[in-house]
Amino acid sequence: MMRRVKGAVERESRRLLALHQASTALAGLTDPQAILAGILRSAVQLTGQGGASLFIWVAEAKVLRNVRDHEVPPGVTARNLRAGEGVAGVAFERREPVIVNDYQRWAGATPASRDGGQQAAVGVPLMRHGEPIGALVVRSYDASAVFNEEDGRLLALFADQAVAALTAAQAFEQQRAAVGDLERLSKAKSDFIALVSHEFRTPLTGIQGFSEMIRDEDLTLEEIREYAADINKDAQRLNRMITDLLDLDRMESGRMQIDVAPVDLNGVVSEVVERAQPTAPLHPMRPQLDPALKKIWADRDRIVQVVTNLLANAIKYSPDGGEIVLSTRLVPDVEPPLAEVSVRDQGIGIPEDALEKVFERYWRVESPTTRYIQGTGLGLPIVRQIVDLHGGRVWVTSELGKGSDFRFSLPATQAE
Ligand code: ADP
Repeated sequence: MMRRVKGAVERESRRLLALHQASTALAGLTDPQAILAGILRSAVQLTGQGGASLFIWVAEAKVLRNVRDHEVPPGVTARNLRAGEGVAGVAFERREPVIVNDYQRWAGATPASRDGGQQAAVGVPLMRHGEPIGALVVRSYDASAVFNEEDGRLLALFADQAVAALTAAQAFEQQRAAVGDLERLSKAKSDFIALVSHEFRTPLTGIQGFSEMIRDEDLTLEEIREYAADINKDAQRLNRMITDLLDLDRMESGRMQIDVAPVDLNGVVSEVVERAQPTAPLHPMRPQLDPALKKIWADRDRIVQVVTNLLANAIKYSPDGGEIVLSTRLVPDVEPPLAEVSVRDQGIGIPEDALEKVFERYWRVESPTTRYIQGTGLGLPIVRQIVDLHGGRVWVTSELGKGSDFRFSLPATQAE
């Protein structure tokens, strides 16, 4: 009798030691996949036989999804179980350990596990804050395998440690993602400050130089006028840059509203072309306007800004000149119909992997050509914000060395 008790005590302390070791091994891990693997390995060690599987409850699909197996032949377990289905499903539903020692004849067996030759299994729920979040199953394919209450109790204790490790890993992942976001944001900000101070410095240097000449040198009235005009141009550029910055900030923080009224898009395109053509002799502009396009609801000043930005880029990024085609088109066969505007140049083009990025704030294509073209990386983000505010869409197709085609479409709910 004494010997039996002594044997039981020894077995118990060996098991507690194993439990302690299994928990400690998990505590040091942060990689989710390593934790899953560690949980399953330890579960098998604790019960001393078989293989193991972990199921996590997917609330949207209402299934227990098998997220990982250990020492289980491939294809012999169900990937998804409903609550109450199989050992995992029953443990999950009842929120208590389930032991099945005659699996082949058990009424709750799943066809996959039965056909896979499973003989015995013990399953425990994974509980978090009193709610089941999944199940852990140890299974054996050995005909003489037997699991007992003790296995169930031990596995349930271990399941709590497993949940704690999974929860910590999730928190760690979230924290890492948040730190990554902050780092990217902080880098974007410092890149931007470097860029802006460089861009602001160019017009400021001009203003400084020309004003010093007016102050220090004997100049004719004509020369003074010429320098004053240069100063004025630089000041206007600075002004534009500051307006862009503030605009984008207002739009991105949701403080900008649009003022809609009936707008003739063909009229907008013609007006922008008329204003730009005299300043760009190397870039003949060819409007192709669809007469079917009637007035639509939009904020005219903002749409002028969009077309102006796209046209300014088409000019800037075609340093060798080339025709620019500005076309409009009514797309009638969709609901609502769309008004589409395209600005197509024959310039340097945009690499495939940058087609989406060009719309991101501060983002510029880095190349020997673009290095000498002034910009802040704010023009296209402003375009996208304005088009978004109108419920529209903007995109670009491009071929390096051949040119780019920037397009936006707006809902063309007829205004008149
Ligand atoms: P930027 O002030 O730099 O012109 P944008 O936001 O207007 O800023 O454009 C972002 C980047 O997209 C530009 O730096 C340029 O690399 C690229 N890009 C924009 N328009 C064109 C175009 N028409 N052709 C080639 N590249 C362009």
